[in-house]
Amino acid sequence: MFIGHYGPAVWDAHRANGVRLWHGFLAVQAVDFVTMALGILGIEGRGRLDTHPLAFDIAYSHSLVGSIVISVIAALIYRALRPKAGRKGMIVIGLLAFSHWVFDLIVHRPDMPILPGGDNYLGFGLWDFPWPAYGLEVLLLGGMIAWWLSVTRGPTWTMIASWGLVSLMSVMQFFLMTKPTLEFQRTGILPPLPEGPGLSIAGIVVFIVFAAVIALIERSRRPKTA
Ligand SMILES: [Zn+2]
Repeated sequence: MFIGHYGPAVWDAHRANGVRLWHGFLAVQAVDFVTMALGILGIEGRGRLDTHPLAFDIAYSHSLVGSIVISVIAALIYRALRPKAGRKGMIVIGLLAFSHWVFDLIVHRPDMPILPGGDNYLGFGLWDFPWPAYGLEVLLLGGMIAWWLSVTRGPTWTMIASWGLVSLMSVMQFFLMTKPTLEFQRTGILPPLPEGPGLSIAGIVVFIVFAAVIALIERSRRPKTA
């Protein structure tokens, strides 16, 4: 999953636990941040596990146990960086980080082992149905933003910018995930796998830009109940 991961990021929309939306944006991708770090180090991302454009070598970061460990570490880092969010804030961040694995389980082809480096792979493979998968991802992101805009208030530009971000992310989703799958299903030819750390670095930059943009928008919006 890509943009759909952001669905639960809005958990603390009323800021009861001090978890900002942009914190959620980073937390839900904690597992993929590790994937990209391991990709730069050459530990993951060395090939495909399956004849599918979206079946990855992610045996450590996306293993069930690995994802739990990453989520606990993300929660502890958050606790250290933002003590005023308290224990509840820490737990929210940990659960948001773990939601990544649960959402990936729905869409991934079986490329997610239970144990790090293990070989009993999980994945329900919704990505084999490119349009329903695309619909789910756009709905999760769009639904989240629609709800967030409804429970917060702010100037009109923040609404336009929020939907602009949803549109941009939806276009990226189509070209990075949906289109390669459709083409593979039509032609049977796997697109070439990008080599080197370039893709990982690009991924990290993209996730940080998404979080920075929503942070900028969030600065001008307040919870309606506050
Ligand atoms: Zn992932």
